[in-house]
Amino acid sequence: EAKRRAHGSLQVFEPKMAAEVNRLLQLESDIRSSYQEHRFTFHLQPLIDLHARSLVGAEALIRWNHPMRGVVSPYEFIGFLENSEMINPVGMQLLDDVCQFIRSHKEQGRFPPEMRIAVNISERQIYDADFVGKCLSVLQKYKLPGSCLEFEITEGAALHNLDEVVDKMRKLQNEGITFALDDFGTGYSSLSYLKRLPVNKVKIDKSFIDDITIDPQDAAMVASIIAIARNMNLLIVAEGVETDAQAQWLSQYDDILIQGYLFDKPLQPEVFSQNYLPKPPAY
Ligand code: C2E
Ligand code: MG
Ligand code: MG
Ligand code: MG
Repeated sequence: EAKRRAHGSLQVFEPKMAAEVNRLLQLESDIRSSYQEHRFTFHLQPLIDLHARSLVGAEALIRWNHPMRGVVSPYEFIGFLENSEMINPVGMQLLDDVCQFIRSHKEQGRFPPEMRIAVNISERQIYDADFVGKCLSVLQKYKLPGSCLEFEITEGAALHNLDEVVDKMRKLQNEGITFALDDFGTGYSSLSYLKRLPVNKVKIDKSFIDDITIDPQDAAMVASIIAIARNMNLLIVAEGVETDAQAQWLSQYDDILIQGYLFDKPLQPEVFSQNYLPKPPAY
């Protein structure tokens, strides 16, 4: 945006704008070299069945191990990355890494067959002409069934061409990959996308969960979302559960999955497997 404006004929050139252009160019070149140096990695945050108190899966969350700045939060770069072509190679590298993690744990007998790792997929990735083919070849490379993966999308992903997105989702679902609608409730037309996208799960956004125990309106909205999702036979995740009181409130339902700091933070993959996956069989 700053780049485009900088070319506007009536735009007065300001030092502040130049600084912003420089920042974005720097970010872009940092992303390119970090991709080549494999500095994008992922953490895993456990997904828990609140009622059974058991692990059902995990979400892979991208991390940037920046050469100068250390580990950078996605909030600082994901918007930029998602608007750049680089989201495609970076996203595929991450999917490859996740599948490699699953493969090596399967080989050690440490990956429960019913478990899935969720990967966030952004709009640009889905519209890549060969998105489905690329996903399937990663599965093939590691000899994995689609049933070890879930893809998280947001309603924004379907904005441009709903039919194309639905078609790709169905092809991937035929291979066993399931879909979750992420950040549910924060978009402009969440219900309409819930109706049109063949998702298996909704993730209720943290902003609705934050005040469920103190704000009756938020509680009413979450209760309604849960009712709709149940009627549609969808799995339900409450995102960003931080307090016992929130978990207590949610436990009035017997079918809620939770993800949040109350249970655990996103962890380095080795820590996740150490703490949550079955131990390697002793010989
Ligand atoms: P998201 O997919 O909705 O992921 C949930 C975010 O909430 C994660 O932030 C997670 O660390 C954070 N979170 C989980 N539990 C709690 C909690 O109890 N309290 C608080 N305050 N936060 C909690 P993170 O890892 O910083 O990721 C932020 C966003 O960046 C993600 O939101 C997702 O939209 C995006 N993102 C992350 N990884 C990827 C990726 O591989 N690809 C794409 N396209 N986007 C990604
Ligand atoms: Mg997500
Ligand atoms: Mg979310
Ligand atoms: Mg998000």
